[in-house]
Amino acid sequence: MFGIWGHPQASRLTYYALHSLQHRGQEGTGIVVTDGAHLQGKKGEGLVTDIFTVQSMAELKGTAAIGHVRYTIGGSDAGYENVQPLLFRSSTGSLALCHSGHLLNGLELRRQLEEQGSIFQTSSDAEVVAHLIRRSKLPALKEQVQYALGLLQGAYAFLLLTERELIAALDPKGLRPLSLGRLGEAWVIASESCAFDIIGAQFERDVQPGELIIVNDQGIHSEVLAPASRNLCAMEYVYFARPDCNLGGINVHTARKELGKQLARECPVEADVVTGVPDSSLSAAIGYAEELRIPYEMGLVKSRYIGRTFIEPSPSLREQGVKLKLSAVRGVVEGKRVALVDDSFVRGTTGKRITRLLKEAGAREVHLLISSPPIRYPCFYGIDTLSTEELLAAHYDLAELTALVGADSLHFLSVAGMRKVLGGGLCLACFTGEYPTEVPEKFEEGKRWQMLTAGRE
Ligand code: 5GP
Ligand code: SF4
Ligand code: MG
Repeated sequence: MFGIWGHPQASRLTYYALHSLQHRGQEGTGIVVTDGAHLQGKKGEGLVTDIFTVQSMAELKGTAAIGHVRYTIGGSDAGYENVQPLLFRSSTGSLALCHSGHLLNGLELRRQLEEQGSIFQTSSDAEVVAHLIRRSKLPALKEQVQYALGLLQGAYAFLLLTERELIAALDPKGLRPLSLGRLGEAWVIASESCAFDIIGAQFERDVQPGELIIVNDQGIHSEVLAPASRNLCAMEYVYFARPDCNLGGINVHTARKELGKQLARECPVEADVVTGVPDSSLSAAIGYAEELRIPYEMGLVKSRYIGRTFIEPSPSLREQGVKLKLSAVRGVVEGKRVALVDDSFVRGTTGKRITRLLKEAGAREVHLLISSPPIRYPCFYGIDTLSTEELLAAHYDLAELTALVGADSLHFLSVAGMRKVLGGGLCLACFTGEYPTEVPEKFEEGKRWQMLTAGRE
């Protein structure tokens, strides 16, 4: 997500910012802009460069904007309607809203609203929040938003735009990353600080857990609505964020490299070369190699013209994607003992494929090293996996997993090692099963799995 208030080039800057956030979602993108009198938007399914052109940016005139790139897990809530920001018009003014994360009580709130007469166009939590805001009979938008936020459970970051203000909110557990910056007189807010770098804005600070920020022509107002502690998603450091981004004051590349070094101290293997799986595990592979003084080599190359594979809805598509995406460099791995570093282990698809790729290219041994602990528990926060059913490490022990991926050995970073490198204030729930929020009984996985995979292959 990206938002800007108080700049004559608001839509164009939002376009560049979304470009730098493209790695966070590739299914759809949208921008809503305001000139102070109207709200106007454009959105579509696809990449930022597919949906927007220089011409469409010129049409979106205004001095404030919000934008979004969409990532969905599973195919059930894909589709044009769900592409954000959502734009609502009423006689009292318009409202655009986008969010990141997942509401634990989203369905329950939706049902209550439907009972009271609301009808929905999307399956997005953002629409639920818009209805809650509009339904509250409170006079000012700030109070309406505050009322709506008070009803939400789960992980969320929101950006809201009206003709008169830009509002940002982060959940009380601070699960999602959100940063505040300045560009001259303008204020900017983004999921990752790399969006500031690309437009030449200065990073000011991370948005605090439970914080509500309101920006308008009078300036900026902020308050923390709920007593708060940060539980930033550890997977942001492991996989999601761009390496040039700083999260919680730590550079993501450096954090990944340190995870690789820690992995080397915990699980040193005898190898001739270390190689990483492009792109997200290269930093960890460099750290692993450096710590053990084994040459770091490019044993795998990735096609530049193919996106992230994890997000493809069906396993068969995902597998094909991995095949198209990576190839082994025979000259580097032939006859060698290869230490292969990957950043995470979810379904085991990538580990299995690349182990085979390297062996087919003549690698003598392949030792698969994962720079995060095994993922054994589902994520309820809209960030990663939905159900333990698909988590390979939830069902098999290390020896079985090693056999399943076909590697000569398999190693994971420990939870303690990850804590040592990244420090406190993190959510590690998918590794530990200790969730920072209550997990309602009805979210027990079987039911949730059915609910979220409806319509999925
Ligand atoms: P697996 O192949 O084991 O199912 O997933 C792990 C691999 O998928 C890693 O190579 C990681 O870089 C990549 N990946 C792509 N998207 C995601 C995601 O959303 N979460 C995680 N943990 N890994 C992802
Ligand atoms: Fe991130 Fe895992 Fe926590 Fe989900 S459960 S928010 S993926 S650390
Ligand atoms: Mg990967």
